[in-house]
Amino acid sequence: MKNTTQVGIIGAGPSGLLLSHLLHLQGIDSVILESRSRQYVEERVRAGVLEQGTVDLLCDSDLGDRLRREGLVHHGIELRFDGRGHRIALSDLTGGRAIWIYGQQEVVKDLINARLAADATIHFEVDEVKLSGIDSTRPVLEYRRDGRDHKLTCDFIAGCDGSHGVSRDSIPAGVLRTYHHVYPFGWLGILAAVAPSTEELIYASHDRGFALHSLRSPEISRLYIQVEPDEDINNWPDDRIWEELSIRMATDDGWTLQSGPVLEKGITPMRSFVVEPMQFGRLFLAGDAAHIVPATGAKGLNLAVHDVHKLAEAFSAWFRAGTNELLEQYSANCLGRVWRVQDFSSFMSLMLHRYSDDDGFRGRLQRAQLNYVCSSQAAARSLAENYVGLPHV
Ligand SMILES: Cc1cc2nc3c(=O)[nH]c(=O)nc-3n(C[C@H](O)[C@H](O)[C@H](O)COP(=O)(O)OP(=O)(O)OC[C@H]3O[C@@H](n4cnc5c(N)ncnc54)[C@H](O)[C@@H]3O)c2cc1C
Repeated sequence: MKNTTQVGIIGAGPSGLLLSHLLHLQGIDSVILESRSRQYVEERVRAGVLEQGTVDLLCDSDLGDRLRREGLVHHGIELRFDGRGHRIALSDLTGGRAIWIYGQQEVVKDLINARLAADATIHFEVDEVKLSGIDSTRPVLEYRRDGRDHKLTCDFIAGCDGSHGVSRDSIPAGVLRTYHHVYPFGWLGILAAVAPSTEELIYASHDRGFALHSLRSPEISRLYIQVEPDEDINNWPDDRIWEELSIRMATDDGWTLQSGPVLEKGITPMRSFVVEPMQFGRLFLAGDAAHIVPATGAKGLNLAVHDVHKLAEAFSAWFRAGTNELLEQYSANCLGRVWRVQDFSSFMSLMLHRYSDDDGFRGRLQRAQLNYVCSSQAAARSLAENYVGLPHV
């Protein structure tokens, strides 16, 4: 069992795995500690919209074979309200950029396969991960595996352990500033074994609440409806979910939603969260460990990818050239994009969801915003360039 490494990574989600892969391409050693099993992380259904920049990075890093074969390229999305659909032509408005539909769990599978093919060390099902010495030059990760205690001495630690991990909390009190906003709604999401009823994603705003028709493949649909954040999933048998989706997405010209067996369902509250800075001593936070965005902008996974790209560049500069400028600037280099994405995700959320305390005023503003986005090329371009991902922020 290895007891030293250059970068100790906590978490085998997209950020931890991609960081480990990018470091490997630079000849830098890493060890990943993951609390869940391999099967669990490979089957965890979450995001599915990849920005153009994410796809480019994955393809440029030898991770694009299956993505190019099975990913679905989308050149537009639909905003649907008042019984009509309005297409936002993403590619036409952004000089040809697009989004790709490819499930997060597929990205995770590709990354695990690539890492294991390169003999990487990923320890699944570890317990009691503890960080120490993060303000020294030899930070240590302690953990339990197969009933035994282990120690891993590192040059650096990357906290890629999501919003409920341990790394962020090991930073001393008073160092981090936390920004948190809770939206007064959640999403009930289903994965269904039915061909999508649409070729492009549909974002629907309705008096009964928001609905989204997304997809994962030509055979699998992913759909969401806005619910109360503390809603009990038991109140939503499958038939009720399909009926509500049909009502919220109905059009005047009789569009129909195909239903099918529900493979999975769950409720996610919508919130925004950011810590600043994203680093302390030799610990660097990436992905959901440092920030959460409401899913309306489809950005969480893409932001995680951006973070670890920056972090891999910074580690590479340190290990190859001995320079620490990029490490020192890591947080600043990420936070510009983090806040741009928070703003965009908040904009989409506020425009599309129904507020239960609305006396009518907010609804009128939302209609005005939707009509503007769907009638002004400047407003549509702004939405489009944010949705496909700004190349330089
Ligand atoms: C329930 C849910 C639904 C989502 N749905 C969508 C969606 O529909 N659309 C969208 O765009 N985005 C969605 N997101 C956001 C997106 O999936 C995340 O932004 C993305 O997963 C971030 O990747 P990450 O690697 O930073 O974190 P994660 O994917 O959370 O990975 C963190 C990893 O660390 C592991 N870990 C945690 N604690 C420890 C520990 N103490 N020791 C060792 N390992 C640990 C976890 O098991 C996990 O494997 C969703 C997120 C969640 C939580």
